[in-house]
Amino acid sequence: MILDKSEKSDTGKLIVITGPSGVGKGMLLRKLLERYPDRIFFSISATTRSPRDGEQNGREYFFWSRLEFEQKRDDGEFLEWAEYAGNLYGTPLSAINQAISLGRIVILEIELEGARQVAISFPSAKRIFISPPSMEVLERRLRDRSTDSDEQILKRLHHAKLEIAAAAEFDVAIVNDDLAIALEQLEKAILN
Ligand code: 5GP
Repeated sequence: MILDKSEKSDTGKLIVITGPSGVGKGMLLRKLLERYPDRIFFSISATTRSPRDGEQNGREYFFWSRLEFEQKRDDGEFLEWAEYAGNLYGTPLSAINQAISLGRIVILEIELEGARQVAISFPSAKRIFISPPSMEVLERRLRDRSTDSDEQILKRLHHAKLEIAAAAEFDVAIVNDDLAIALEQLEKAILN
């Protein structure tokens, strides 16, 4: 493993973004990536969940079987991993090591348990939490995107409450109410 916990200034840095499913992390990160395609490296996670309509293997996620995921996890190929709403999610180490050594800002968009693991293994990583303006708005966003079953939405809302309760553990907290304001705050937190 190349990742260097001291994160010297001539190497890249690690940023963790956490927030409930449906809060708009994906949209914010896509916009940031458009602005800084050469500076920012967005880590592609692996998951055992099925692709949603429009998702492609190797673009949104690496969609692996549980067996494949567990084998790689047992071989130590993940920086962190967690189970979320019945599926496994994890950050493959290899691409991250390369991006860090090239001096890029590496962004992990991961749930709370994974963020806690990174806080222990890489205390110098900056951790940013994105909250919805309210639970009602979050539920509406989850229902409007029509990608998940009712059961999945309920699981995601349950996780959302646990995650929001842990927001104070993070270095920076951003409320995604107005997209332009949230984007400006996120950009500042990531680049500084
Ligand atoms: P979704 O199924 O909506 O794409 O993602 C569900 C949750 O899994 C989100 O909170 C997302 O941030 C989280 N997630 C995505 N990739 C990873 C990962 O590599 N590790 C962990 N711990 N969580 C992840």
